[in-house]
Amino acid sequence: MIIRDALKKGTDIIKSAGIETPTLEAGVILCHVLGRDKIYIYTHGDNELQPSQEEKYFELLKKRTSGVPVQHITGTQEFMSLPFRVNEHVLIPRQDTEILVETVMEWVKNQKTQSQDKVKIMDIGTGSGCIAVSLAYYIGNSFITAVDISEMALRTARLNAEANNVADRIIFIHSNLFEDIPSEYFGGLYDVIVSNPPYIPTEDIKHLQKEVRCFDPLVALDGGQDGLEFYRAIINRADDFLKPGGLLALEVGFGQADAVAALMKGKFEDIRKTKDLSGIERVVSGCRETAL
Ligand code: GLN
Repeated sequence: MIIRDALKKGTDIIKSAGIETPTLEAGVILCHVLGRDKIYIYTHGDNELQPSQEEKYFELLKKRTSGVPVQHITGTQEFMSLPFRVNEHVLIPRQDTEILVETVMEWVKNQKTQSQDKVKIMDIGTGSGCIAVSLAYYIGNSFITAVDISEMALRTARLNAEANNVADRIIFIHSNLFEDIPSEYFGGLYDVIVSNPPYIPTEDIKHLQKEVRCFDPLVALDGGQDGLEFYRAIINRADDFLKPGGLLALEVGFGQADAVAALMKGKFEDIRKTKDLSGIERVVSGCRETAL
């Protein structure tokens, strides 16, 4: 079978399973099997697949139609134009979360700090490390503390930091939120605290699509009864770590922005809500009050 026909056939197979972006996903799987990039498959449409490649391709398409996310098939996901390894221990990076990273980058850019000043950032619930690694990558003078309750997630995040050449500016800490963070990290040290915490209300998890419900780790999704449990915990403790005037930036789920902004009121000023590409309020941010 030639590449062009394989792509067409793969697209049809994925489409028949009701998956939304069939051409894209068939292309990604084909690239993975061939070990080539997208440009190659579109410029070498007449090349024959080897029988072993063909067999592997259809096997993986079957896996995809059974509900396995394409990122678990290839083991990678791009985020902020950087490659990230993913597995069953981490939430697959979502494009929406790029808004959170951009919010932090924009705030840092607008500070009057000199370029040689360190920008200290804490990422709570780092997962794959997509937020910590991309902030380290794009903010050259940043130093990141990446925290997660899962040792396996931290291991994955560390690999991603190494693969993107920023491991020397990220410290990884095994902790449930702030609970087990060593005391030397306290004391209003941080310019920014950022987090994409679990925010799905427990009862709603069973209604999520199979790809999320069965393949993203529950510990990365379950935000307690009303989905706001981790926002309360983070907002209550953030001032032990944040410098006065420092930024707290949180990703929120659909319909949660007002509730999270209300939780921040009183302790934070300049509270802002930022929309994602679908027009949904996705990030709530605010600065620790300076006059205490
Ligand atoms: N954005 C994920 C989803 O809706 C949830 C991630 C989270 O709870 N932080 O599938």
